Amino acid sequence: MSYVDQVLDRVISQNPAQPEFHQAVREFLATVRPVIEENEEEYRREALLERLTTPERQILFRVPWVDDKGQVQVNNGYRVQFNSAIGPYKGGLRFHPSVNLSIIKFLGFEQIFKNSLTGLPIGGGKGGADFDPKGKSDREVMAFCQAFMQELYRHIGANVDVPAGDIGVGGREIGFMYGEYKKLTGLYEGVLTGKGLTYGGSLARTEATGYGLVYFAEEMLKANGLDIKGKTIAISGAGNVATYAIQKAEQLGAHVVTCTDSTGWIYDPDGIDVALLKEVKEVRRARLTEYKAEKPNAVYHEGKGVWSTKCDIAMPCATQNELGLEDAKLLKQNGCIAVCEGANMPTTLEATKYILDNGMLFTPGKASNAGGVATSALEMSQNSERLSWTFEEVDSRLQRIMVNIFHQVDAAAKKYDMPGNYAAGANIAGFLKVAEAMKAQGIV
Ligand code: NDP
Repeated sequence: MSYVDQVLDRVISQNPAQPEFHQAVREFLATVRPVIEENEEEYRREALLERLTTPERQILFRVPWVDDKGQVQVNNGYRVQFNSAIGPYKGGLRFHPSVNLSIIKFLGFEQIFKNSLTGLPIGGGKGGADFDPKGKSDREVMAFCQAFMQELYRHIGANVDVPAGDIGVGGREIGFMYGEYKKLTGLYEGVLTGKGLTYGGSLARTEATGYGLVYFAEEMLKANGLDIKGKTIAISGAGNVATYAIQKAEQLGAHVVTCTDSTGWIYDPDGIDVALLKEVKEVRRARLTEYKAEKPNAVYHEGKGVWSTKCDIAMPCATQNELGLEDAKLLKQNGCIAVCEGANMPTTLEATKYILDNGMLFTPGKASNAGGVATSALEMSQNSERLSWTFEEVDSRLQRIMVNIFHQVDAAAKKYDMPGNYAAGANIAGFLKVAEAMKAQGIV
């Protein structure tokens, strides 16, 4: 049996009932196979893939907190410190009722290669809790964040592990967790990124993932003789990534006609109104029905269905496995030429295969959404030198990083005879750097 197949079997048998983690490892191994096969004996002797697919450390903890009725609630907290070969662990925290070890491990595994692609010195990790911030008062969210940090603080640090936001964790939650970390440790250090601007946050961090996605898409289109200007784009999500992807795409002359939340979606033929979207989702924390109420031309659809929209480019920016095979077929049928992932693993394996086999362009999240973590690393640099850079400085560095990631990914795909297969290119380019660092550091 080939080494790659042997490792995949091992991951599946040693991590039962973790389908998202299996999916991420399967996709990764399938694309790095040619690289492994060049040096199979050496990789096998060093058990490099076994080490790469086994987290360095997994921390599971209880999070007890008191709700507004005086009732004690208990949630499950997670931090998976996956790989520190190229730097301190770095990756977001997700607060969502669906969170479990499989989801955190898939996200942590992907984060290793994403962070490697940024060219910055950050290892891979991820964490979160099965807590649902929706419908909770600010006091309840604060109580939860403080309780979460009361355990997490002993495992993290500015040079050890630096968490950030993800689904359900935005500026409010980062602020509450930062305050608790400071109180517990007495340290004012860059232990979290995505902080507020008054206490060590970086300008352009809020915008970074969405802007970075559009910069990446723009460069990829350019390399294929296309222009983002004038393109119709369907986007899913209405959170951090989606909002700023819409904003940047519209600034570059594209026409974004959709956004979604967990209950429904909006089609707005006039183009999504970002100011209104931010008011509805960031300020009122309300449903998209409130967007429709203020935009008579917009149509609100209950439930799923956003990928039935006629568009040139689809940008899934909500959550994992939100774009399946039937969606990919519909997109193709309606003339879509590119799927650019803003979320982590939003496209299923079957849909990705269909997209690549049917001549559509595809950018994998681990490359095209790396702008968020890259800008988090820039926040860490600013914290270390106790300086703040201007918005323009951070944004122009972000843009250079995204263009550079595209060219790394493109070159790796070409080198291994898969031109245009950016999914393979991203895995290969991300993997080679981590593998070299692991080999150099011996068996640890
Ligand atoms: P947010 O919480 O800000 O927004 C998530 C959006 O997706 C919301 O509109 C939410 O709906 C919707 N959503 C969440 N879960 C589901 C679900 N199970 N079904 C349908 N809709 C859902 O998160 P982000 O924008 O930060 O993250 C979105 C994606 O991007 C995630 O995959 C994340 O891992 C990834 N990502 C985020 C980065 C960042 O910097 N924030 C960096 C890199 C990747 P509702 O409004 O109803 O809650």
